[in-house]
Amino acid sequence: MNLFVANWKMNMTRAEARAFSEELGRRVGDRDLEVELVIAPPLTSLDAARDAKGRWSFAAQNVASEREGAFTGEVSALQLADAGCRYVIVGHSERRRIFGEGAAVLSRKLERVREARLIPIYCVGETQDERAKGHSLEILTRQLETLREDPAEATLVIAYEPVWAIGTGQIATPGDCAEACVHIRGVVGSRRDLRLLYGGSVTSDNAREMLGGAGVEGFLIGGASLKAASFASIAGLA
Ligand code: PEP
Repeated sequence: MNLFVANWKMNMTRAEARAFSEELGRRVGDRDLEVELVIAPPLTSLDAARDAKGRWSFAAQNVASEREGAFTGEVSALQLADAGCRYVIVGHSERRRIFGEGAAVLSRKLERVREARLIPIYCVGETQDERAKGHSLEILTRQLETLREDPAEATLVIAYEPVWAIGTGQIATPGDCAEACVHIRGVVGSRRDLRLLYGGSVTSDNAREMLGGAGVEGFLIGGASLKAASFASIAGLA
């Protein structure tokens, strides 16, 4: 089943989240869903985005690397599970780049996520500079090393998100994405329950082509997920 994750980032008030979920609910209706829908709202909008019919679940956009205690401003994996999250985005390029999260902190976050029985959506992807130098696959290998201690039998989602494609309007070609996905599968080959997503400037106009030939089973969507109509359309629910 293809998976579509709306990453709202630091957008959406509770009123906006409520309006989004009402519209998404209308668009989905009572049909039997053949796709999985996930919303990653800011935590302040979690309740406003909840669907009484359970047609979508939640991902957190971030998680603390520590279990509990005196860590002002942090939210633990157990608290996220308690609030109704099913997934957690770990290693998004904005966390890596803006907040300086590297392998050590990300592997602790993955551990916390597993302790809370949540599913990580682990993001990997090269920058424009790394791509220009021909280092893309090497970078993916290095970022995937962070999964070394992650239990091989556990459900895992990996999002291939080339940094140069995030929020730029410059989407990867299906061929480039397929090459990265073959590489990722090769590196984490022993996983039994793995889903690969693509993220980076996905819109309702390019989603079909990307799903067809890029070796992915869904998308992590930023900008185009802020409107219920485009999120639904990307998920094939228009
Ligand atoms: C993202 O931030 O994960 C993302 C894919 O953003 P956008 O769809 O806006 O490129």
